[in-house]
Amino acid sequence: MPIKWVCKRCGLVLHEDGVKRSSYGIKFYGDIVVMYDGECPRCGHKLTPPDPRSVKIKPLTRPNP
Ligand SMILES: [Zn+2]
Repeated sequence: MPIKWVCKRCGLVLHEDGVKRSSYGIKFYGDIVVMYDGECPRCGHKLTPPDPRSVKIKPLTRPNP
């Protein structure tokens, strides 16, 4: 199921998770926030999670490489 992150103020599509590429993928909303420095690049609106029901935000538990 594709996930779309859209700025709630101006409607800019920040990221669309529908491309089948296994080498690199954005899984967490935090990655989007970091990528755009916490703000919409168009209008400067502070990025907030789009829908907590469809996007699960978990604490980072990645093992160190
Ligand atoms: Zn915006």
